[in-house]
Amino acid sequence: MNTKQSHEAFKKAQEVIPGGVDSPVRAFKSVGGVPPFIERGEEAYLFDIDGNRYVDYVQSWGPLIFGHCDATIEKAVIDSVKKGLSFGAPTQVETVLAKKISDLFDGIDKIRFVSSGTEAVMSAIRLARGYTHRDDIIKFEGCYHGHSDSLLVQAGSGAVTFGTPSSPGVPADITKHTLLAKYNDIESVKQCFENSKGVACVIIEPVAGNMGLVPADVDFLEGLRALCDEYGALLIFDEVMSGFRASLKGATGLVGVKPDIMTYGKVIGGGMPVGAFGSREEIMNELSPDGPIYQAGTLSGNPVAMNAGLASVSKILEHPEIYAEFGRLAKKLTDGLKEAAKGEGIDLQVNVRGSMFGFFFNAHEVKNFADALQSDTQMFAKFHQGMLERGFYFACSQFETGFICTKINDSIVEQTLDAAKAVFKEIK
Ligand SMILES: *Cc1c(COP(=O)(O)O)cnc(C)c1O
Repeated sequence: MNTKQSHEAFKKAQEVIPGGVDSPVRAFKSVGGVPPFIERGEEAYLFDIDGNRYVDYVQSWGPLIFGHCDATIEKAVIDSVKKGLSFGAPTQVETVLAKKISDLFDGIDKIRFVSSGTEAVMSAIRLARGYTHRDDIIKFEGCYHGHSDSLLVQAGSGAVTFGTPSSPGVPADITKHTLLAKYNDIESVKQCFENSKGVACVIIEPVAGNMGLVPADVDFLEGLRALCDEYGALLIFDEVMSGFRASLKGATGLVGVKPDIMTYGKVIGGGMPVGAFGSREEIMNELSPDGPIYQAGTLSGNPVAMNAGLASVSKILEHPEIYAEFGRLAKKLTDGLKEAAKGEGIDLQVNVRGSMFGFFFNAHEVKNFADALQSDTQMFAKFHQGMLERGFYFACSQFETGFICTKINDSIVEQTLDAAKAVFKEIK
């Protein structure tokens, strides 16, 4: 595979952009090599600037349920663009999209739109703190909720449950209010509650997609609900990735546990920058201008982004059967990968939730971040390189999730498995 143009483009990019990328994972640091620079997408495929074609199992990290250049979404965007790019004034499309999403969930009366998942979660945390008049929050090791200060924490030393900043530039005075618990471990959450003077909220990815794909156990989520109720804290489900991905109703639709606040992003923008958070009326009414909790955005509810999101969500609602098909194809893919790996003596742990799939090079089941970290990341890197060279674009880290879009079919999955067999043979 010739990647000369991408090599040159990456070099030039690094001269003017830190690491050559606008979001770190894109630099391929954990798998090595040069990221293909993308020229265009078409249905299930990406084309790089050297003219190579790849089957795209990333789909912009989740947003593209219908693959690249879906005609319905494209038309909605173009029609909207012709009416003006931004007004900073209310438009009806915001109401229509808010209604479509809130109608899906019992506990969501009102929604506010923002421009990214980070912003959605940051605002949801402020809302929870403002509503409960408490400062502490509980999050889980291995869950990612965007790059706002409160959430960039890592485990401190010893048995301390209070987080320390995971990035320079984040004040310890801020992260001291973030307690870190273990995913799928209710005892660790109890300990956080006991160590805190007042917990505003527990935030979790109910299907974690940012440490690889690690679904939460239902009884664990029920335990969180009970603890939040006992202590008067709010439960936030961060469905920025799993929303309209794990099922039509996201992870919430699979687990039967009701959160107080939900956050969205990715799919609800259909490929444009959109985030959202929603809750019941009593909580949402605390937001300005109705209430005292401040939150705002010049480009929030941008009409072009809203129209892309509305077209995407409407098409999903018209075709709820896609999730069964996603699940079937994702299972065919991961079962096939597992079997092919086994044939070469390689242990693979696989998971599927709707259109989300994950695989760990790991001999043991992965239930939390510590388990995930036991995976063989060098083996993953070799697998990734081998697949990329054969024209299959998987997420460039062991700790990310893969995505199926409606343009992936049996034949593409079979081609992927044929390639994977050859790669496993090479890297074993
Ligand atoms: C992607 C993601 C975010 C952050 O969204 P951005 O749009 O990248 O800011 C937050 N939470 C989860 C669960 C995500 O997967």
